[in-house]
Amino acid sequence: MKRFVILILLISIITSAQQEATIYQDNTHLRKGPGSYYPLLGILLKDALVTILQETSGWVKISTSGREGWISQNALSEKDRATSSMKTSDFKNVRPTFLSRASASGAVKGFAQTYLKKHDGSMTFLDQYDTAFFQPREYENFRQETYRNRNMKKIRKRYRRIKIENKEPEINSYLEKMGFAVAGQIATGGLETDIQKLRYINMVGNLIVESTPLYYYPFKFYILSDERPVAYATPNGMIFVSQGLLDVLQSEAELACVLGHEISHVVQQHGYSEVTKRKTQIVAEGAFDELEEEMPEGFSDEELDDLAFQMFEAATSRRQTEYEYEADMMGVIYAYQAGYAPHGLASVLKSIKSMTSRDFWHPESNWQYNAIEDRSEKVTAFISAELKKNSDWNVENSHRFNRVFH
Ligand SMILES: [Zn+2]
Repeated sequence: MKRFVILILLISIITSAQQEATIYQDNTHLRKGPGSYYPLLGILLKDALVTILQETSGWVKISTSGREGWISQNALSEKDRATSSMKTSDFKNVRPTFLSRASASGAVKGFAQTYLKKHDGSMTFLDQYDTAFFQPREYENFRQETYRNRNMKKIRKRYRRIKIENKEPEINSYLEKMGFAVAGQIATGGLETDIQKLRYINMVGNLIVESTPLYYYPFKFYILSDERPVAYATPNGMIFVSQGLLDVLQSEAELACVLGHEISHVVQQHGYSEVTKRKTQIVAEGAFDELEEEMPEGFSDEELDDLAFQMFEAATSRRQTEYEYEADMMGVIYAYQAGYAPHGLASVLKSIKSMTSRDFWHPESNWQYNAIEDRSEKVTAFISAELKKNSDWNVENSHRFNRVFH
C-alpha cells in the first residue's frame, strides 16, 4: 500500500512538471541537446503547441507531435515562461507547425543558389555550412579546459549593465536567406579548409556566443583566404575572419575580442535593420508560409536581389563609425563575460595600426588610419573604466592559440 502511494506521488510529480506552451518566436530551432551547437532536428513555426518536459538555464526540453528536442527559452511566450500553471489554448491547427531540417535548409539554400548564380558568387561556403565543426562532447571539454580553476557563473556576472539599447534580437527565416546570399558574396575569394583551425575558431566563437542574447542561434565561423586583415558578419550569424587577420593575432583573447566585435554586429543588426524594416513587416504578415517555397510570396526577383545586395553592402562596406564604436564596446563586453581579457581588442587594433600607413584607407571596410587610432583609444578607456572587475579571472590563452595558428 505504502509503495502504491509513493508511486502515485511520483506520477503526479512527473505529470505536474509537464506543461503546455505555445511557440512565440519565429524560426525556432529544435535541437538534439541544450546548446546551439547540437544537431538541428527541424524548425518549429510560430503558434506550434508544445509540451514542456524539462528546463535548464536558457533551454527547454519539449515534445511536439511525437518529436522531442530542445528549444531556447526565448522561443516561448512571456506568459509561458513566467507561469507554471497549465495553459489551455484555443489554437486551431490550420497551418503546418513543424518543418523538417531538410525542407528548412532547402528553402534557404534555394534562395542563395538563385541569387549567387546571378551574381557570380561563391558556393564554397555551402559545403562548410552543413559541417559540424566539432562534436558537443568535444566542445564541453574545450569549455572545461578554458574555465579550469575559474567560476564560470561568476565570470558571466562580471558585467551586467549593457547600456546600449537593443530590441530582443531575432533571426527569422527571411534574414537567414538574405544572410546566406551575402555569405556567398563574401566568400568569393575562397575559404580555408584546415579543419583544425576551423574547429578551434568555432569553439572559441561559441564560448562568446553563449554570453550574448543570441546564445541560442547557431553562429558559424569561417576563414577567408585573404591576406588583408579583415572580418565580416552576415545577418544570419556567419562570421568571416581573414587569414591575414589571424596572422596578426597573438592570443585566444585577441581572437575572442575580434569575434565578439563581429558577433555584436549580428546581435545589434547593424546596417540591415534599416534595410529590412519596411519589407520585413510585409513578410511578417505572410508568417512562415514562405519557408516552404524557394521564394517568399509577394516579392519580385528584383526586390529580393536588391535587398540581398543592400545587405551585402551593409556587411562589407559603408560601415558607419558609430556602428564600429558600438561593436567594439559590445565585443569586449561579450569577450569579458566569456572570461577573456578585454584588452585583446585594443592590442589587435594597435597591431593593425602599426602595419598601416598614415594615408591608409580601406574602401570595403571603411577603415582608415585615424579611425583605427580613435577606436583603439575609445575602447581602451572603456575597458579601464568598466571591465576591471576580477581581472585575475581573465583568460589569455596565447599558448592554445599558438598551438593552432603558429
Ligand atoms: Zn565592425
